[in-house]
Amino acid sequence: MEFNVFEHFKGYQRTTSGPRTPQEQGTAFFLGGHMGPRISEHIDTSAARAGLSRRAFLGTASALPAAMLAVNKITGMRFFEVSEAEAYEPAAAKEIKINRKPGADFIVDAHTHICTRKDGYIPGVNTTERGMWFVQLLDDLGKAMGLPNGTKDMTVENFGKLILEGSDTSVAVFNPFGFREDYGGKDMIPIEEQAEVKKRWPTRTVMLGGGLTPNQGLSETLERLTMFVEKYQISGLKLYTFDSTKKRGWWFDDQKAAYPIWERARKLGLKNIGVHKGIPFGQFMARYAHPEDLDAVCDDFLDLNFIAYHSAWPYQHELAALKGFKPQRKNLYAEVGSTFAATVSNRPLECAHVLGTLLRDLGPDYVMWGTDSALWGNPQWQIDAFRKFQIPPQLVEGHGYPELTPEIKAKVFGQNAARIWNLKTTASAPALEPRRAVAV
Ligand SMILES: [Zn+2]
Repeated sequence: MEFNVFEHFKGYQRTTSGPRTPQEQGTAFFLGGHMGPRISEHIDTSAARAGLSRRAFLGTASALPAAMLAVNKITGMRFFEVSEAEAYEPAAAKEIKINRKPGADFIVDAHTHICTRKDGYIPGVNTTERGMWFVQLLDDLGKAMGLPNGTKDMTVENFGKLILEGSDTSVAVFNPFGFREDYGGKDMIPIEEQAEVKKRWPTRTVMLGGGLTPNQGLSETLERLTMFVEKYQISGLKLYTFDSTKKRGWWFDDQKAAYPIWERARKLGLKNIGVHKGIPFGQFMARYAHPEDLDAVCDDFLDLNFIAYHSAWPYQHELAALKGFKPQRKNLYAEVGSTFAATVSNRPLECAHVLGTLLRDLGPDYVMWGTDSALWGNPQWQIDAFRKFQIPPQLVEGHGYPELTPEIKAKVFGQNAARIWNLKTTASAPALEPRRAVAV
């Protein structure tokens, strides 16, 4: 079993009610995995050294660094660039956080969602049993990540609070959910509801269209695509190759069913086509989560960019091979949402291998940051974790992975996304308006 969200959060217990800080969410996630009990012992030691109760210590800026230091110690490898001072002295940790200039990084979260709709998801009324599997999965994830009401808290309002105001994210790229066969004939997130996000934060968001599958009928799909561009001015697509129709899926390299979509996208001026790959969750067929169909479509549509969301994890090697052996390729991208979050805290070796494989084979110009928030609540702990994450020297030497230098992190964090979505970065400007950027 690769990644079962229920299994993953087994043993996770909410100990307080109300919103947690993002750092507390992150620390709790470190404590909830298989290394949890051993990390917990280190946290107790850190709390004692700081002269605080465990509960009080968990509320300080040292808690997350202490969990990271514990991972270094338990594994004997340097996965996190973190100092003893940060882990043991809350004042020092706070100082380090404050001194890190906000706005020094230009961060584009290529993978964000809301997950509510006015009609709700009512089993047997407007949602099938299978459709409820996905709602339930997102409910559990949200609750584990500090959203007491699960999907009901993944609102437009909270999108702003958690991602745009509550984290160092500069620009958030909005990803839709469709699957209307499971949701009473209406997209899981109808475009008119998701358009609220763009309306509220026009310069801080990029809106993608979705919910399209040729299995709903090709002409209908092309009509909807055109309407998304004309009425809602979408900046790209985020699609799913598994779907809820009778056929259960499709491929991007299907010349009859899919190529007319790319031709229409090209005509409408859309350049960036994202697709969920990997993480074969809930009601969907894993076979369609393999990325092999990106091979032909990348060659046949050289002027379009294809983005494999989730980096196709756990099939990241298949994705990486599509560039590792085809270095001429310049339009294949990976995005790390959920994949980084799910591995960094208690599968750090796997996390380093995934990032290392992508950076080595796709190249540092083709890997993009994403967090899959607000499904994961506030993304700030993920940002903090990536800032500190390293590919340990043994893996750099033994696998030819690049080191995670500040230059590479800056590309992953925002420069690559800024290039393909034409975002003006103000990262080098004084930190007056640190997170402003303009989508053009
Ligand atoms: Zn997502």
